Amino acid sequence: MRRISIFGATGSIGQATLDLIGRERESCHVVALSGGRNIARLARDARAFGAEIAVTAHEELLEDLREALAGSGVEAAAGREALREAASRPAEWVMSAIVGAAGLAPGLAALEQGATLALANKESLVSAGPLLMATARAHGGTVLPVDSEHSAIFQALLGEDISAVERVIITASGGPFRDWPVSRLARATLQEALNHPNWVMGQRITIDSASMFNKALEIIEARELFGFSPGQIEVLVHPESIVHALVGFRDGALMAHMGAPDMRHAIGFALHWPKRRELPVARLDLAQLGQLRFERPDEARFPALRLAREVMAAGGLAGAVFNAAKEAALDAFIAGRIGFMDMAVVVERVLAEMSSAGGLDGGAPTLDKVMAADHLARIKAGEIIAGTNRQEA
Ligand code: NAD
Ligand code: MG
Repeated sequence: MRRISIFGATGSIGQATLDLIGRERESCHVVALSGGRNIARLARDARAFGAEIAVTAHEELLEDLREALAGSGVEAAAGREALREAASRPAEWVMSAIVGAAGLAPGLAALEQGATLALANKESLVSAGPLLMATARAHGGTVLPVDSEHSAIFQALLGEDISAVERVIITASGGPFRDWPVSRLARATLQEALNHPNWVMGQRITIDSASMFNKALEIIEARELFGFSPGQIEVLVHPESIVHALVGFRDGALMAHMGAPDMRHAIGFALHWPKRRELPVARLDLAQLGQLRFERPDEARFPALRLAREVMAAGGLAGAVFNAAKEAALDAFIAGRIGFMDMAVVVERVLAEMSSAGGLDGGAPTLDKVMAADHLARIKAGEIIAGTNRQEA
């Protein structure tokens, strides 16, 4: 029996992971499942999969979770420390599918016990990539990408010598605002940002896709996972979302990974790696698709891409600051406190202010330093957002 835990089990990636695991129940033992406010879903799945423990992120919901699990034999727990404890329970394969920097501590705990970490939580790589990868190396853990683009790169690299790679190209759908002029982007509403043309995902990553902050995170994710230099990582807008990434080698060959836009491919690949097994994903009909388009992204309309380059150049704690400021700006946009284009303005100002205060150089990365930078960046972002509102009032 393979011991498996899923953090962020109630979300879009978590549910897709459970869908796959449910198809091979006889070979899997579920150790821990975690969720947030959706206690009913967490309890339902913990019962159905016979989990050892279910953890909600919210301490005030512990009693509700206990009640929902009464008589099931599943242990109930809540809060950050419980999440870390559950992640340090021995498991061979752990899915990291919490959204945001909150996924970092459980991811590290899983790697410390030598697990294979299927990493959907790109924010932890952006915030603390060197720490995460060093923790994996030190404890014999493995990090496998569960982002469609990074799984695609990983697959295109199988059997290749990474030193023969010239460049990688990650694709972006362009989201719902691909053709919008800046003037219209500035007025984009939450509902419009949530209207993704190709992928069904959690709310936060859907908005990040519309602003291309998702792609900005993914550029940094590619650097941290594979060690490419920033100049080797390119982005192309590809509205069909069929080619997920391409790897260019020094002989000019370009290996593309294609597939239907269904995260169960990247999740299933990580689940069965190093083998390939049958997966319940749609097969492509290229003749029916007819054509695939590629365009250069417009950094004037999507400044997040430029910011990602600046973050990589700055190094140190810039990734942690970038991610935290982005999370705060995203919360403010969702709450209707700032406009769509203000998100990048807020993030850029937080980076500039913390950089001039020397707050981006951290020396060797530790969890404490990353969390302190994250915390300060959220405070700074809060001040800037409050200022933006005052000016408008
Ligand atoms: P989601 O919003 O659907 O689910 C997020 C999960 O995290 C839920 O279980 C939620 O309860 C939990 N969570 C939220 N805040 C938490 C906190 N503070 N502490 C603990 N748990 C918390 O998100 P999703 O779309 O499934 O995305 C999950 C991760 O996977 C993200 O990092 C995202 O960038 C990445 N990802 C998602 C997709 C996709 O197609 N959905 C694709 C690639 C990468
Ligand atoms: Mg992606």
